[in-house]
Amino acid sequence: MVPPKSTQQQQARKTQIVVVGGGAGGLELVRKLGAKYGRKRHDIILVDQNLSHIWKPLLHEVAAGSLDANLDEVGYRGHCARWGYRFFQGSLESIDREAKSIRLAPVLDDHGEELIGGHTIRYDILVLAVGSISNDFGVPGVAEHCLYLDSREQADRFRTKLLNQCLRVSRAMIANPAADERVRVAIVGAGATGVELAAELYNAAGALKHYGLEVFDETRLDVTIVEAGPRILPALPEELSHAARGELNKLGVVVRENTQVILARKGALVTQTGDVIAAELMVWAAGVKGAEFLSGLGLATNPRNQILVTATLQTVTDPDIFAIGDCASYTPPDQDAPVPPRAQAAHQMASTVFTNIHRKQKGKKLKNFTYEDKGSLISLSRFSTVGSLMGNLVGGALAVEGRMARLIYTTLYRLHLLGIHGWFRGIGLMVIGRVNRVVRPKLKLH
Ligand SMILES: Cc1cc2nc3c(=O)[nH]c(=O)nc-3n(C[C@H](O)[C@H](O)[C@H](O)COP(=O)(O)OP(=O)(O)OC[C@H]3O[C@@H](n4cnc5c(N)ncnc54)[C@H](O)[C@@H]3O)c2cc1C
Repeated sequence: MVPPKSTQQQQARKTQIVVVGGGAGGLELVRKLGAKYGRKRHDIILVDQNLSHIWKPLLHEVAAGSLDANLDEVGYRGHCARWGYRFFQGSLESIDREAKSIRLAPVLDDHGEELIGGHTIRYDILVLAVGSISNDFGVPGVAEHCLYLDSREQADRFRTKLLNQCLRVSRAMIANPAADERVRVAIVGAGATGVELAAELYNAAGALKHYGLEVFDETRLDVTIVEAGPRILPALPEELSHAARGELNKLGVVVRENTQVILARKGALVTQTGDVIAAELMVWAAGVKGAEFLSGLGLATNPRNQILVTATLQTVTDPDIFAIGDCASYTPPDQDAPVPPRAQAAHQMASTVFTNIHRKQKGKKLKNFTYEDKGSLISLSRFSTVGSLMGNLVGGALAVEGRMARLIYTTLYRLHLLGIHGWFRGIGLMVIGRVNRVVRPKLKLH
């Protein structure tokens, strides 16, 4: 009689597809792979350093307190049980391309004690989708004194500091109503993150008086955006960037273009002309790069640690390893700049890699990736939305503002929800989200 094969042996025969990073690109990809292949002859594995996913473009709202991340995050364990993939928590440390395995660092608990030991996972096909981190361009003092908005933890840290500072100012005003107490926030970088955060802060500050800080309002908030380039939102047409600047000025935001920060120190930024911008909270949002560990994986990278990929999104070093989203660098043949680090690019890359994984297994020619820029929309919280739409439907670039722009802006997140949950559940969650916005407090205060 043939002895029953161990689960391990059965597992070993399956095609193992490992996706590292469950963000905008990785989670959509793993959901599609799980739904298509299931567990019969494939083993689809997602690895992420965290236990849950929050869509990064929401982080400025989490930071300002106008969005409760607990309501919008997706727990990987629940998601994988539903979509037929396995989830491992861990941080990618290294790749052994000979053995076709990845090494994960040990997972530690809150007290620094080992929770899960470091371990290896073998792969037949590997997809890297680990996103990006803020690029401080080596400016001294930034890492020590500035906050970033790269993760939920960082956004939570910002919110806690913001609320504490609002509380301090509020207490000081009660003690001495004549005192000119302020909450000063300096944001470096006038791209989407910096601009959206600035507007969201005014929205949140305006609401605080309804939640126990009676004497506090947005007039106590001083927000300065510092931008090295000549204008804010360089990805948008000039007239929209101008319109957004006007809206920010109306709110009270001071915008300083052509200003380069050369040093950050406790409570202040120093510019190239020697100006000192004092602030209790300083946020660095001046561009992104790949995490340092990416350049040590044995794969070719660019100077910003992003992995170089071919038109099929396979790494230039190894055709069994794909890279997508912010951690990948691909310059289309007719372009002189790489595909920008955006959620829409990560989403489109996930679709191409999904197709290519299928074709690769069938021995078919892989599809080339083409990036379709659908435009950019910038939400200035409830005050305004500006942006430009691209495409055949609108006949090139179309500037949009106001309600229409707001509707399209929120559609982007809805598409992501559909991408990771499917239609039925995705629409259900949208409805619940709508109800929550009505019945729950407008701010997260803890
Ligand atoms: C505040 C803010 C606003 C934004 N607004 C917009 C917008 O309006 N429109 C737009 O198109 N884009 C926007 N972006 C950019 C967009 O969020 C990113 O381009 C997009 O999330 C990239 O997707 P990704 O899948 O490459 O990475 P991510 O979504 O960042 O996901 C990366 C995942 O990898 C995991 N990970 C990282 N390192 C490791 C490791 N070593 N091991 C295991 N797991 C790891 C992370 O935990 C994370 O889950 C915004 C970004 C920010 C921060």
